Amino acid sequence: MRNALSVASECVPLIKTGGLADVVGALPTALSGAGWALKTLIPGYPAVMAAMEGAKEIWTTDDLMGAPARVLAKEVAGLDLLVLDAPAHFDRPGAIYLGDDGNDHPDNPERFAALAFAAAAIATEGAGGWSPEVLHLHDWQAALTPWYLRTMGGTAGTLLTIHNVAFHGLAPASRLNALRLPSEGFNRDGFEFWGQINMLKAGIVAADKISTVSPTYARELTTPDFGMGLDGVLKGRRNDLSGILNGIDTAAWDPATDPLLDSHFKTPRGKAKAKAALETEFDLPQSDGPLCIVVSRLTEQKGLDLLLDALPALLDRGGRLALLGTGDRNLENAWLEAAANHPHVSAKIGYDEALSHRMFAGADAVLVPSRFEPCGLTQMFGLRYGAVPVVAMTGGLADTVIPANAAGLKAGVATGLQVFPVTTDALAHALVRLCNLYRMPEEWGQIQKNAMKQGVGWRASAAAYAALYDEIAPA
Ligand code: ADP
Repeated sequence: MRNALSVASECVPLIKTGGLADVVGALPTALSGAGWALKTLIPGYPAVMAAMEGAKEIWTTDDLMGAPARVLAKEVAGLDLLVLDAPAHFDRPGAIYLGDDGNDHPDNPERFAALAFAAAAIATEGAGGWSPEVLHLHDWQAALTPWYLRTMGGTAGTLLTIHNVAFHGLAPASRLNALRLPSEGFNRDGFEFWGQINMLKAGIVAADKISTVSPTYARELTTPDFGMGLDGVLKGRRNDLSGILNGIDTAAWDPATDPLLDSHFKTPRGKAKAKAALETEFDLPQSDGPLCIVVSRLTEQKGLDLLLDALPALLDRGGRLALLGTGDRNLENAWLEAAANHPHVSAKIGYDEALSHRMFAGADAVLVPSRFEPCGLTQMFGLRYGAVPVVAMTGGLADTVIPANAAGLKAGVATGLQVFPVTTDALAHALVRLCNLYRMPEEWGQIQKNAMKQGVGWRASAAAYAALYDEIAPA
């Protein structure tokens, strides 16, 4: 086995705000079958430190972005974890990126520069007699690592994975010294971005290889519509940019064994019990239309404002909708209002992993109308649990759902519905189509069955990552 270090700001099961955490938590098991032993370096937030009792100290410093820090090692939940214990940066209550006022912590650049710096130091000096050949860096929080590695003279290969290009990690130019960045890198070819330091760009220009989480998003990233100002830089590196689909944890997400479900099922027919339970839990009346769900962060990205406007198309045809989500206050209120106005709409505001499992188990369809979606996980949970995905034709959603158009149905391979363009009208049209298909038992049964059979695990993607590691590891 060869050694690699995965560096990220979140990792399941210890700390999660989005799909990034799922992926980081799944990679080590996935890669171990492909010849690479992965350790995972994450910050020591309170929730993470709580799991580190008895851990071994393997690296220390007096001054990591202005504060003492150490790295602890321990196996937790089957993961070889390295945890950056730096209380000045990470020992704070509440959400991991945000302060009590709901805004980003002003020192987020320094906090995550500390993570990147520690990763480079471990790769260069070694820690506890161990050092990685490859550094797998996730998003802006880890993206400064290649710059520190250069300064330290490290030779590990670097792969930057972009999970969402919307988050840049911006800092004013005045913080160059505080971030220990070389001033000669502060230009268009380096990490300068309209007069500021852009941490994601730093990784894009300096990592040996760049990947993102689906082939379609990899293409979209090089266009102005999706690149969020980094399309030009990404285009310049297109020969080193690839798209590797995320998988899901098919052991945790298995309708036949899921410990978070009361009753299990292997076939679509077996899901009736879960559906009845879901109707009760969300206080939704029975009807002859499909029971749809949304499990999502409530942000502009997810297109759920469009869904609000398209709802009549579903409700007029007996469809029902159960939503679980949290995020923007305006969207939360809009959904609560829709639920108050329509007996066939029910919304729960909050984050609830167990409930999300029960929802996928009981639903006929999961709706994912995202304006952009690097990969997306909920459509894959839907596939696995026979909740037919209705998705925007963008990013990983386009890559994971085989549309039930005339060709898809004729060939008997369809697994869901795709919406294009991502507008209220097109979404309404897709919801009408969903309701029609739902009333055609033969076609519907075929789509559900295909969905539940579709491969959504890590095997192919793990092999693709391993091939990239092989390429960038020093000879
Ligand atoms: P993103 O990372 O943009 O939020 P993904 O679809 O890649 O979108 O991943 C979202 C993950 O978070 C999925 O595992 C999804 O089930 C979960 N999730 C999102 N919102 C909630 C919620 N309110 N309750 C439970 N799980 C949620």
